[in-house]
Amino acid sequence: MVNTNSPLIDLHRHLLGSISKDLLCNQISKYASTPLQKLLTPTQHEFLERTSYGRDLLSSFGKAESAPDIFQKFRSLLEFLQSYVAVSSLIRTEDDFAALVSEVLEEAAQEKLHYVELTISPTLYTGKGIPLEFILETLTNAKSSSSIMAQWLLDPMRNKGAEHAEALLQQILSISPDAFSGVSLAGDEESVPISQFRPYFELAKAHGLGTTAHVGERLTSKELELALELPLDRIGHGIAAVHSPIAHEVLMTKDIPLEICPSSNQQTGQISSLDTHPLVTLYNVGVPIIINTDDPFFFNTTIVEELSFASRLIGDEAVEEIKKNTQRYTFAG
Ligand SMILES: [Zn+2]
Repeated sequence: MVNTNSPLIDLHRHLLGSISKDLLCNQISKYASTPLQKLLTPTQHEFLERTSYGRDLLSSFGKAESAPDIFQKFRSLLEFLQSYVAVSSLIRTEDDFAALVSEVLEEAAQEKLHYVELTISPTLYTGKGIPLEFILETLTNAKSSSSIMAQWLLDPMRNKGAEHAEALLQQILSISPDAFSGVSLAGDEESVPISQFRPYFELAKAHGLGTTAHVGERLTSKELELALELPLDRIGHGIAAVHSPIAHEVLMTKDIPLEICPSSNQQTGQISSLDTHPLVTLYNVGVPIIINTDDPFFFNTTIVEELSFASRLIGDEAVEEIKKNTQRYTFAG
């Protein structure tokens, strides 16, 4: 049983992936009469048409009665990404973005989180015409008015490339240097090699920002070993470390924690069942781990549920120790 009296902390949680069901229903109704061609770019439309699930998503636009459950019914990483694209197309204006930010923080407060780090991909919204300045101002204001402690992490989106990542961070630092407390890197691990992002992570470190990257989410350890040569404070997922004694050594020596997200790994098909999650081996070997939700809406979970999964595998005492250790890995400054 998870002790909810000691502070609940989630360091790997995405803004869009934390959308509330109420807000999602609102957005579906709001854009019900907008043609699909206006909601999705041709590339996004084609991406959704690739699977029968994606085609179901396309036909669900404008039908509030089929939502929001359909967005949680993916069965693979590809289908999860299709669902993510579909939901992201429903946040289109400054008002939509402001509502998303305030509702996500409100839900985190209701979840009784003591502290949360939320990763945001500004390009998802600037691409629809929302000014970067508005996004940064909204994030900064929300942080100071929120009833819980929250910090923002930047995700420039890996598939957009390393030059984009560095340029976006540079631009953000020139507009609002305190908007983000750290940087992340999410997206398809096979799109661009992690080593190309060294200048991006070095720029972040030079400005005192924390650094993390999604790597080793799939069970192949090559990208993870390359990532460990970069200036990273934490690793997003990193379950591939289970196959790499080299990674164990580096993670332990440098005290780099893996941001483990059990439900995410299961529901995107990276592991066959929660009972066989690599976190057991990683914990027993001595690799630092922390427990997180990733995308609580899409995986229909909470931080207490994720901690409970971990408790069933490694015991209450171990999870309590992990919760205590998590505080020292934050990017709060
Ligand atoms: Zn993630």
